[in-house]
Amino acid sequence: MIVCKFGGTSMATAETINKVKDIILSDPERKFIVVSAPGKRDSKDIKVTDLLYKAYDEQQKNGSCKETLNKVRDRFVSLCENLKIDLDINPYIDEIAKQMPKTISADYAASRGEYLAGIVMAKVLNFKFIDATEIIKFNANGVFENELSNDLIKRLKNEKSGVVIPGFYGKMPDKSIKTFTRGGSDFTGALIARGVNASLYENWTDVDGFSVANPQIVKNPKSMESLTYEELRELSYMGASVLHPDSIFPVKVEGIPIQIKNTFNPSAKGTMITKELHTKENQPIVTGVAGRKHNTSVLLKKPMMNNEIGFARKVLSVFERRCISVEHLPTGIDTMSVVFSNVLTKEEEANLIEDLKIAVNPSFIEIEKNLSLIAIVGHGMASTKGTAAKVFTALANSDINIILIDQGSSELNIIVGVEDKDFENAINAIYSAFYE
Ligand code: ASP
Repeated sequence: MIVCKFGGTSMATAETINKVKDIILSDPERKFIVVSAPGKRDSKDIKVTDLLYKAYDEQQKNGSCKETLNKVRDRFVSLCENLKIDLDINPYIDEIAKQMPKTISADYAASRGEYLAGIVMAKVLNFKFIDATEIIKFNANGVFENELSNDLIKRLKNEKSGVVIPGFYGKMPDKSIKTFTRGGSDFTGALIARGVNASLYENWTDVDGFSVANPQIVKNPKSMESLTYEELRELSYMGASVLHPDSIFPVKVEGIPIQIKNTFNPSAKGTMITKELHTKENQPIVTGVAGRKHNTSVLLKKPMMNNEIGFARKVLSVFERRCISVEHLPTGIDTMSVVFSNVLTKEEEANLIEDLKIAVNPSFIEIEKNLSLIAIVGHGMASTKGTAAKVFTALANSDINIILIDQGSSELNIIVGVEDKDFENAINAIYSAFYE
């Protein structure tokens, strides 16, 4: 049994939804369908989810969201007309209009795109619509209830017909709607795949597969045929944006493969994401390169730091108190850098420095901003000599200064830090070193 998730571009127009329909109906194994809200129809268009967030803001500011909600209405009405389905979507939108002044939640507003898309898709396919609120649960603090949701999803296995489920949201105990973070329908799809014990989780999008590097930075990068859950986790965490970074957790437990497929080119192989290491010959050493700009690093120096028991704990507790999640901790004998992705205000910087001075009394402390982190990821690295040398040579030849180096203990990645201004050049240099 296959769980399929279709993203916003697949759900954007009647034409694309008909492609989705053909894909689903071409294989009876495709029984559980998770949908995103309709995305952009062209580069100037606005995603339905963004319109709904805007409607919520307008409602808060002006006491009415009629104008923007009518744009959502128009979009769904014309979608239904063009699909020639016997569905009057207006009462559903009327209900949203009625709820908007009452609800205080942006999550409720944003979730309605997936909800309406699910209603439409179920009609198109003649499948059963099951609202995500019935199976995806959050506790009163808004924390996702993993076990409870999984138990509820498991019951879907008994469904006789195909099922359509809206992605992205679920319900809290007080019946209010809670969404995952943006792009969260991928996560919903993964949860359904785990719950119904699917043989495959197909994630249908608008690219032929996972690119080795961001196509907005590298011209026509190669696509990956396969990668492991761990590699995907590293790459998506570092900014590669085909899949929501949390999506692998549910499927990883059961070892369910994820396949990235292209709705607009269904015969393309796509990218397969599995548990096992690649065994193929000619497997590249580096599976992918991804990175993020605008990180911050705090450099601390103190003579005899290495002998001071508890130094790292004291430093880290300052970051914990300030709710800053630490990403990397490269250390020297008497130096330590703490790298994190937050961009601090002047005041926050001053406070952080003050706290660190009190905690560990360093001889030198400096905040470095505009730091880009780039991850070079691949299981092949563990068994191949010279990978780091190749990365550093490529960067040196492009006249790029490396500010930081960190290698994960699993030897799955090498992280380098460069100045934001060098980010794009660095990605290109590394890509060329391994792929050209
Ligand atoms: N529609 C939501 C978003 O734009 C969720 C999703 O597409 O997965 O983020």
